[in-house]
Amino acid sequence: MPGAVLIVDDSATMRKIIMRTIRTAGVMFQVTHEASNGKEALAKLQEGPVDLVLCDINMPEMNGMEFVKNARQLPNCKDTMIVMVSTESSPELIEQVKALGATAYISKPFTPERFKEVLAPLLN
Ligand SMILES: [Mg+2]
Repeated sequence: MPGAVLIVDDSATMRKIIMRTIRTAGVMFQVTHEASNGKEALAKLQEGPVDLVLCDINMPEMNGMEFVKNARQLPNCKDTMIVMVSTESSPELIEQVKALGATAYISKPFTPERFKEVLAPLLN
């Protein structure tokens, strides 16, 4: 069982939905951390190791794009999987976040099956 997941979204309801969805997908973590924007997420990453970050794009303070860019500069975050979860779904934007260092992309609305499809190969 992977250790820690960090769920980053400015909507608390969406964070709960994501938590429930990954559980339904059969993906379990020992610890679940939450953050409501990129700035808070960076602070969480500096507190301790995180295996997987599930990150929204449109957020106040620091959006998901800036977060990925900054997270990849952290020495302890080079190998952390960062999966973007967003309603933004233009191919250009997906390319852009991947170029910044995102590992994969899931668009909203999502299904447990979609999470399983993306996460299973990453977590094995
Ligand atoms: Mg948002």
